[in-house]
Amino acid sequence: MTINYQNIEFLTSVAELTQLPPDEGTEVAFAGRSNVGKSSALNTLTRKRNLARTSKTPGRTQLINLFELEPDKRLVDLPGYGYAKVSRSIKERWQKTLGQYLENRNCLKGIVLLIDIRHPLKEFDAMMAEWAGQAQIPLHILLTKADKLTRNHANKSVMEKKKQLKDLPEVSIQTFSSVNKSGLEELEAQLNTWFGSL
Ligand code: GDP
Repeated sequence: MTINYQNIEFLTSVAELTQLPPDEGTEVAFAGRSNVGKSSALNTLTRKRNLARTSKTPGRTQLINLFELEPDKRLVDLPGYGYAKVSRSIKERWQKTLGQYLENRNCLKGIVLLIDIRHPLKEFDAMMAEWAGQAQIPLHILLTKADKLTRNHANKSVMEKKKQLKDLPEVSIQTFSSVNKSGLEELEAQLNTWFGSL
């Protein structure tokens, strides 16, 4: 039995880790710098036009947004950052909350880290990768907006990222496009594995 990713419901938004639902079942988190295509990827996965809209509502961009697929199976939309208008103190607070979530959340079984296929790894990506490694949580990299590159250039970016992340214990990398839906099946297969529903 596989999961139907269209059957997804918004659960809650939390600003503090103490507000999270009980640490039970399985969570898979999506993370990425703002504008990387995270909302588009979540909408593509769930075949919704506006699933991730909640996460983009002003005031909610700094929150951890949780969605339920089935009882005890949740997708977590982690706050990204990158907007110049976010102050340093807010950035530091996010970093702390994110780090604590990754470190302490037992039900977190995998992280999907989205990186624009045209860009090198940025500070945020390196930080997420390092935390995932430390917490021994498997990382699945989505190289987003793959439709913007030729196949050759896309392959080159995949090789580069593989090389840069080779020291991580558990990492997989794929290309993805919300425009032409390429990579969707591969993403679903990875999520199904993590949710234990293969
Ligand atoms: P978020 O800030 O990470 O949630 O990013 P969004 O999903 O809002 O996307 C940011 C911008 O990138 C928007 O203008 C999208 O239309 C565009 N975008 C997102 N995914 C893709 C993609 O797969 N291909 C292309 N060409 N553009 C994309």
